[in-house]
Amino acid sequence: MGVAETRQALQSKQVSSVELTQALLDRAAAHQHLGAFLHLDAEAALARAAAADARLAAGESGALIGVPLAHKDIFVTADMPTTAGSKMLEGYRSPFDATVVARLNAAGTVSLGKLNCDEYAMGSANENSAYFPATNPWDTTRVPGGSSGGSAAAVAARLLPGATGTDTGGSIRQPASFTGITGIKPTYGVCSRYGMIAFASSLDQAGPMARSAEDCALLLSAMSGFDERDATSVQQAPQDFHAQMLQPREGASAAQPLKGLRIGLPREFFPAALAADVDGAVRAGLKELEKLGATLVDVSLPRTELAIPVYYIIAPAEASSNLSRFDGVKFGHRAAKYTDLLDMYKKTRAEGFGAEVKRRIMIGTYVLSHGYYDAYYLQAQKLRRMIADDFQACFRQCDLIAGPVAPSVAWKAGEGAEDPVKAYLADIFTLPGSLAGLPGMSVPVGFGEGGMPVGLQLLGNYFKEGQLLHAAHALQQATDWHRASPVSRPF
Ligand code: GLN
Repeated sequence: MGVAETRQALQSKQVSSVELTQALLDRAAAHQHLGAFLHLDAEAALARAAAADARLAAGESGALIGVPLAHKDIFVTADMPTTAGSKMLEGYRSPFDATVVARLNAAGTVSLGKLNCDEYAMGSANENSAYFPATNPWDTTRVPGGSSGGSAAAVAARLLPGATGTDTGGSIRQPASFTGITGIKPTYGVCSRYGMIAFASSLDQAGPMARSAEDCALLLSAMSGFDERDATSVQQAPQDFHAQMLQPREGASAAQPLKGLRIGLPREFFPAALAADVDGAVRAGLKELEKLGATLVDVSLPRTELAIPVYYIIAPAEASSNLSRFDGVKFGHRAAKYTDLLDMYKKTRAEGFGAEVKRRIMIGTYVLSHGYYDAYYLQAQKLRRMIADDFQACFRQCDLIAGPVAPSVAWKAGEGAEDPVKAYLADIFTLPGSLAGLPGMSVPVGFGEGGMPVGLQLLGNYFKEGQLLHAAHALQQATDWHRASPVSRPF
């Protein structure tokens, strides 16, 4: 069951949260080969479920009371360890919960544990996890995408109704696409970053990963909202994304719920080199949106290719600064043997960080250093602004933007390992929206090479999560792609 079905079953007392949680714990135990969980605590999960059942028995009717989920291990949690997929934080216990976690706890969700991810969310395949890779439940010889790969694998394999993820340059959308689930990265500032271990602070954003737009809407309503502890949190009233999702469009009809919706297709999102299977599935999804009344318009995002160098300057620059806090003094790992303070810093960081994290710290330090700052970091910031402006020019011609999430379906495990630049290039379609701070979704639209899922990316203007969810929900009411799972393959 997804989030909405689980809620229904719990409220109508068809099942208790303890029963559900036990069933999912059993499923997780039978699917350890997927590598989805970094931490699973059956006893604690069942205690949380019992507390939720007590709330339900007392007549509480909050949408998420008793709904099991788990968190990407980049959110700090007081009652569970937090590693950010790094050896640096092995055994680390936070004294507090991330705001997103605290809000979902307050809403009554039952956390089963912490989900695998790339180290400090740096990666596209979950192979940069310092512990073990997560695998794709559709084909375990392939990657589930990253960096929220554990979240994607768990939801796709039906180990959980939903999960939290984070997206800095595509880490909710791309793994959702690779595993045939639905994910939304809201506008930068909609979910609090407090307690989300920082990778690139101007880009990091939390969001839900689940089976459908409806499930995502239910989770996002509980996760989001202003937080005085995050200086970049947007000051807006709490939102009911589920109600926004259901809000009919003016002039729309039951048969044509998207009548009047203009969907822009940036030429640059459909290059000649785009894999034919991805192109075919994306176009099938667009055809369905047209049947529902949407009109497709040709638009341009001329700086799409530049999003790659811009992101891979800005994100490492911010990471190099953020990760300076892991110095062996305050958090996690400290080298056992050292001669003096400087030697302790060096040994701790050399031992605690993996190769990709070190690469980014070096790139980031380089582009911020005296003599290179103007040539790299400053230029990247200027281009970032121009990329954001390009989107605004598009949104004068359309309401939403659509295209592929990734240039291919999930690749084979080990394929990206030897050439990090190849993995960076595959982020081309998700990075522009991240740099602009726009909300974006991945919605399943069929299957490609090897029977692997393909996602359609939908991007909206700032704070248009409701519009995105509405369009995705309309599509999912009319099609079955999101119902397919590796458990019940469509073919
Ligand atoms: N793949 C991108 C990277 O490696 C995005 C990661 C993310 O969104 N956290 O940085």
